[in-house]
Amino acid sequence: MGQKLLLKNIDVPGIRHYQAYRENGGYASAEKAFKMTTDEILEEVKTSGLRGRGGAGFPTGMKWSFLAKPEGVPRHLVVNADESEPGTFKDRFLMEYIPHLLIEGVLISSFCLGSNTSFIYIRGEYAWIAEILEEAIDEAKEAGWLGKNIQGTGFDLEIYVQRGGGAYICGEETALLESLEGKRGNPRLKPPFPAVKGLWGRPTVVNNVETIAAIVPIIDITGAEYAKIGVGRSTGTKLISACGNINKPGVYEIDMTITVEEFIYSDEYCGGIPNGKRLKACIPGGSSVPIVPANLLLTTAEGKPRYMNYESLSEGGFQTGTMMGSGGFIVLDEDQDVVYHTYTLARFYRHESCGQCSPCREGTGWMEKILKRIDEGQGKMSDIELLWDVQRKIEGNTICPLGDAAAWPVAASIRHFRDEFEWHINNPEECLTRNFGLAHY
Ligand code: NAD
Ligand code: SF4
Repeated sequence: MGQKLLLKNIDVPGIRHYQAYRENGGYASAEKAFKMTTDEILEEVKTSGLRGRGGAGFPTGMKWSFLAKPEGVPRHLVVNADESEPGTFKDRFLMEYIPHLLIEGVLISSFCLGSNTSFIYIRGEYAWIAEILEEAIDEAKEAGWLGKNIQGTGFDLEIYVQRGGGAYICGEETALLESLEGKRGNPRLKPPFPAVKGLWGRPTVVNNVETIAAIVPIIDITGAEYAKIGVGRSTGTKLISACGNINKPGVYEIDMTITVEEFIYSDEYCGGIPNGKRLKACIPGGSSVPIVPANLLLTTAEGKPRYMNYESLSEGGFQTGTMMGSGGFIVLDEDQDVVYHTYTLARFYRHESCGQCSPCREGTGWMEKILKRIDEGQGKMSDIELLWDVQRKIEGNTICPLGDAAAWPVAASIRHFRDEFEWHINNPEECLTRNFGLAHY
């Protein structure tokens, strides 16, 4: 059984509410942090090696140390709770069942960063969770953990929960800031990064829900102890939301030392594939990460076992490897049709493109159209080269990573499952009558 830091109290009755949270050690890290200087807190976060849990894995301590501090200009912390990556639902779980962990994380982080007004920008579809967070904020305020002169420290903090309008692109940090400012959620060009010019042009740290929640155990056990958990630069624990063709879909806290095989087949985690089916492929880090065939998922190109951590999952690069990403782990069994899944992903990205850049706006539309006709048995062999060409023209030529995220699954599917594309083209009748089990994500 791996070490639990974030979900250790998840089974405590009533842990969603202040009283049970407090009785089980809640807000003790905040008490500890208030006795430290802001530099000491920052040092603990740096020492912990914590990397951003939204998908990019950027070192949190480094991001915090980039925060500009011009005289007289307010700074902000914005929590990115716009969790919309297909297959990713770990933040939802955390906020729904243990909301005070996030509130305490926001409190400590805001104290360290000097933010007196912090925001949680939550996906619009998570409406009931926004209410849970608002209730937790009210409880924390009543108990003296928010508001003016918190616990006599002289530190003031208000946390506002802002609901998104249902656009995936608003999870991109600069689109999120635009939306928070009341504008259409179009991504901004970076640099400048939000740490220098963020919300209303002010220095802003944008961090994922899980990242901010992890600050609580880091202060509790110290950054050095946190860094001892895990392996290499994959320190601490990581939440993984597992779904698709597995016996036990759900959210798991892992310590990043387990192999991918163990994660899929052990009873502690996914519990294997239903009906004894064979593993065909996986999207291990949310849909912005390439689809990998089973052999490359379980072992690296050199035949070493692959582990559930940042380094091992990205070993081999995009040619062979994959990525930890947002931790949305989608398993596909032998009955799954990779062309169909690639088409549904392309449809998703076309729908969610904000339309600012031509390669993404036009390219996602073209990829969807070509994939649809191949999937429905109306494609021709030259479509495979056309599709390859379109995705190549998107990658690296757009303002934000949505363009790359749309291109990568298409490239990976063609690279690893070309025979399935050819099968669709050569067997038009069977394409229309095929019957495969759906993988839900
Ligand atoms: P990124 O690598 O551009 O940036 C990562 C973070 O580091 C950002 O906050 C950025 O501001 C900061 N940063 C990077 N360089 C910096 C510098 N020099 N100075 C200051 N700050 C700096 O990646 P991103 O666009 O934030 O995220 C992309 C990832 O998001 C994808 O890999 C995908 O996995 C993930 N994603 C997650 C979801 C979800 O629902 N969780 C949805 C879509 C995408
Ligand atoms: Fe918008 Fe796509 Fe350009 Fe991102 S890559 S800014 S989503 S058009």
